[in-house]
Amino acid sequence: MNKEEKIKVLQDIVKIKSVNGNELEVAEYIKKLLNEHGIKSELIEYSEGRSSLVAEIGEDNGKVLGFTGHMDVVDVGDEADWKYPPFEAHINDGKLYGRGSTDMKSGLTAMIISMIELKDEDVKLNGKIRLLATVGEEIGELGSEQLTEKGYADDLSALIIGEPAGTSIVYTHKGSINYRVKSTGKEAHSSAPAQGINAINYISEFINIVNKEMNKIAEKYNNEELGRTIHNVTVIRGGNQVNTIPSEAELQGNIRTIPEFDNDKAINLIAEIIKNLNEEKDCKLELTIDFNKIPVETYKDSEIINIIQDTWLENNKEKLSVIGISGTTDAAEFTKSKNKFDFAVFGPGEPMLAHKVDEYVEIDNYLDIIEAYKKIAKRYLS
Ligand SMILES: [Zn+2]
Repeated sequence: MNKEEKIKVLQDIVKIKSVNGNELEVAEYIKKLLNEHGIKSELIEYSEGRSSLVAEIGEDNGKVLGFTGHMDVVDVGDEADWKYPPFEAHINDGKLYGRGSTDMKSGLTAMIISMIELKDEDVKLNGKIRLLATVGEEIGELGSEQLTEKGYADDLSALIIGEPAGTSIVYTHKGSINYRVKSTGKEAHSSAPAQGINAINYISEFINIVNKEMNKIAEKYNNEELGRTIHNVTVIRGGNQVNTIPSEAELQGNIRTIPEFDNDKAINLIAEIIKNLNEEKDCKLELTIDFNKIPVETYKDSEIINIIQDTWLENNKEKLSVIGISGTTDAAEFTKSKNKFDFAVFGPGEPMLAHKVDEYVEIDNYLDIIEAYKKIAKRYLS
């Protein structure tokens, strides 16, 4: 593919509105493109209008290198705030603008094009590359969860996640838990509170205790690369009238976990606080876990990370830092597969630009990553 074609494909994909859904349109575009180059692919339906895509090139015996990227993008906010409309893939001064240009349609497209070129050039691979294009990464890593359950990650030897990484390779990231606590009390006139149970008071007690306990955890455990556990109560609502004792209140909280104090431990701690409060007081608190993604880590000097490092140094004369991040990725689901494998987050774009107004990717960076992916795959599967 020539340079113009590579840019055109990225533009086409950015132009498809796959805001928290509609990934089927992206998947169908990719399927057609791969098909034109003799690469078969299959769509795995998640729900109506949402399908992940799996495609392979190479040979059956040997290692399996996974390439993964998500097809969904986050909401654009107020379109009027954008310098260029978010779904027009406008190019200016070497930058391609649009929602998903950095996070992460450029990474996904670079993976697709590298596979197409390896196929077109008839490069002999000792093993295969498996493309895993997922749905719903931004709202719960839905596609990677489904593909992992179906076994698509079981035989991977290594996985590259094409999320924007700047000039870094990410080898570990925190987990994330969203939880909700509902407090049910009893309504009464505010002049006679003894006849009621104040649901807000118990939510407030819970907040005091959970903050204290989570602070203790943050002090106790530290991960060399990821730092400490983070906890925040982020949403609260309750009551509906100023002179009525509230019978209902609810809060939501987020925890960023590290391997030293993992998701199970964090959830158990919260459940324990709630259990104790319910036993000691006349309150009724209920815990719901809305989102539960584990922290992931792999070796800093794994084969795949060393190959990425060497390739980038040769091609771009730049040494990449190997780091950990707070945000979660599809790796949190794929690494639940039957077998362990190495992974690396490495893709075009800047993490700082993700989810923001005027998101863009440097076109040269995108083109460089295509070359890098090709070389990395050839070396890993040599
Ligand atoms: Zn992303």
